[in-house]
Amino acid sequence: MAPSGSRSIKKGCQRVLYWIPVLFIALIVAWSYYAYVLQLCIESIEHTGLKVIYLLVYHVIFIMFVWAYWQTIFTRPMNPLKEFHLSHSDKELLEREDRGESQQEILRRISKDLPIYTRTNSGAIRFCDRCQLLKPDRCHHCSVCDKCILKMDHHCPWVNNCVGFSNYKFFMLFLAYSLLYCLFITATDLQYFIKFWLNGLPDTQAKFHILFLFFSASMFSVSLASLLTYHCWLVCKNRSTLEAVRAPVFRHGTDKSGFSLGFRKNFRQVFGDEVKYWPIPVFSGLGDGCSFPTCLVNLDPEQPSSPSGSNPANKSAAEGRQFPSKPLRESQSRLLTSTPSWT
Ligand SMILES: [Zn+2]
Ligand SMILES: [Zn+2]
Repeated sequence: MAPSGSRSIKKGCQRVLYWIPVLFIALIVAWSYYAYVLQLCIESIEHTGLKVIYLLVYHVIFIMFVWAYWQTIFTRPMNPLKEFHLSHSDKELLEREDRGESQQEILRRISKDLPIYTRTNSGAIRFCDRCQLLKPDRCHHCSVCDKCILKMDHHCPWVNNCVGFSNYKFFMLFLAYSLLYCLFITATDLQYFIKFWLNGLPDTQAKFHILFLFFSASMFSVSLASLLTYHCWLVCKNRSTLEAVRAPVFRHGTDKSGFSLGFRKNFRQVFGDEVKYWPIPVFSGLGDGCSFPTCLVNLDPEQPSSPSGSNPANKSAAEGRQFPSKPLRESQSRLLTSTPSWT
């Protein structure tokens, strides 16, 4: 068989295997639904009012949790825009040069018209050989997806997807709603769990579901709470998981807070301006994922300054800071104004 054929079979098998963690989560969730709704609420709770309240609240949390999980799994990660890809002539030019310094010279020339402010550790332009593009700030190549992913956070096996610019809010909501789901089950199951040990439950199979429901929900609560706390900290600091491990490198050096604009603006960058969209798993973040406002790049001598007065953000110094000289998209400019428009 041709090597390319066996490679594609291997890739196909890998793609199937990657769905196993998602299937595992789906089976646990399906079992928890059966155990909570049928075995606990319908079989074991005698008080009708309590039964109805528990079932109503449970289903609201369950729907939000499944919706956020679905969105995290099936939202395609965003890849860099066309302008970051090398043109045919630039590719040829790059291939002809075999010296690293000459190649860097070509890449530097192309990057002059792009809002790229970060560099590699050695100060070179960040270039992806596989995708043949100049990496936008905060973009990384994912070896599992084999693509460059905008504002890549990490590749998550539990959702079989890259968590990045397009679905980071969904991932945060998924963590929040799954924690709420587990905490609600733990809290409402507690008294029946105690009854189990006091032999106060009738001798049916429901009592074992009640027992395992409590154990699994409380154990997941602990791990989800720590993961959610960590990601809340990352949102407040405007860092991705990758940036928390390795700080981004700007022309003047590494700066782990390079993209931070202050707590409120950092939060709005992910969740958007409108409060009503915050708890809902629909995209509401600001920006285009390819360029990010940063307070550190104004003095970059390699970046041309835009025509004066073309963008109020150029001259403004929100919170006493200088902002990029590159034209920003409308939603990003909003991030840099000092008056938040939360509605
Ligand atoms: Zn790439
Ligand atoms: Zn990936």
